[in-house]
Amino acid sequence: MSAVTSTRVVLAARPHGEPTTDNFRIETAQVPSPADGQLLLRTVYLSLDPYMRGRMSAAESYAEPVEVGDTMVGATVSQVVESRSPRIEPGAYVLAYSGWQSHALVDGNAVRVLDPDRAPLSTAVGVLGMPGFTAYSGLLKIGRPQPGETVVVAAASGPVGSAVGQIARIRGARAVGIAGGPDKCAFVRDELGFDAAIDHRAPDFAEQLKAAVPDGIDVYFENVGGAVTAAVLPLLNLYARIPVCGLVSQYNAASMPEGPDRLPGFMGLVLTKSLTIRGFIQSEFVQAMYADFERDATRWIGEGSLKYREDVVDGLENAPTAFLGMLHGKNFGKLVVRVGPERA
Ligand code: NDP
Repeated sequence: MSAVTSTRVVLAARPHGEPTTDNFRIETAQVPSPADGQLLLRTVYLSLDPYMRGRMSAAESYAEPVEVGDTMVGATVSQVVESRSPRIEPGAYVLAYSGWQSHALVDGNAVRVLDPDRAPLSTAVGVLGMPGFTAYSGLLKIGRPQPGETVVVAAASGPVGSAVGQIARIRGARAVGIAGGPDKCAFVRDELGFDAAIDHRAPDFAEQLKAAVPDGIDVYFENVGGAVTAAVLPLLNLYARIPVCGLVSQYNAASMPEGPDRLPGFMGLVLTKSLTIRGFIQSEFVQAMYADFERDATRWIGEGSLKYREDVVDGLENAPTAFLGMLHGKNFGKLVVRVGPERA
């Protein structure tokens, strides 16, 4: 056994509906020395992402759930403390999937080495990582925005939505963002350069959205579902495309919404507007598009046309509260936990 003790956040119990901090538990454990091919990692940044709510549930999904008592899963930027992999030196920074813990043993072939001089390390789980790629692939492959078209996206100050709107503008489209509250809307409009930003919490949200899209909506990048989608649907143009990326407003739902069945009306709209609705998980496009994404996103960041904001929370023990807050919009930008300093 090595002398390293790992602090980790485990799933204490599955939530029914809204999760609370009681669904998590902090534990410590001794980490064994790495075997042949393995790395001992020290976590620097832990990425917190909405999909983790799905992993807390046993409901059937595209990925296996976290078992009760197991460490919560998640992407990390980590530093190699000890290496028994011939291709990775101690001290190197890597993108790993080592979860909510301070130290971990991983297979050396399961990580990607990061160049700390190329970009800030935290961007490997943000604008230059999975969320940025989600925006790039879903928008360009499914949304296919054309010059002059109107693209609408919610969670517009977050890592996926902010990149969707900016890439839409790079492609010559008009970008309308939806975000929670005046500060986020001001950021989306004034800092990120969206053409308009609408607060989904405003009492006249649907009217404001209608006024912001005088030519209708050609691409609705679906991040949230619920009331936002209900306001978007009547504004869709003929042949509109809807990449269905996420439904974060519904992740804690424990029962069906009240009221009449809206499905027949929705299917009628799909028919009469000739809509294309296509769900996706970003991983399906990695092989075909990741190299293009890295090249384009790096260039756009350098040119200043792709901006990003990070919301950094200090301390692994604060991960549960930060994660629960994200599901209600308490984060402002890509949510990461600084688990340890960049330089040990
Ligand atoms: P964000 O960091 O943007 O966090 C989620 C945001 O959702 C909150 O900050 C909040 O922003 C917004 N939100 C929460 N509840 C509501 C609500 N009821 N109505 C409207 N907005 C709400 O998250 P990401 O950018 O990481 O992810 C965005 C979406 O993309 C999520 O649905 C996620 O699951 C999905 N995703 C899908 C992937 C795929 O492969 N398909 C991969 C990665 C992400 P605000 O305060 O502005 O309302």
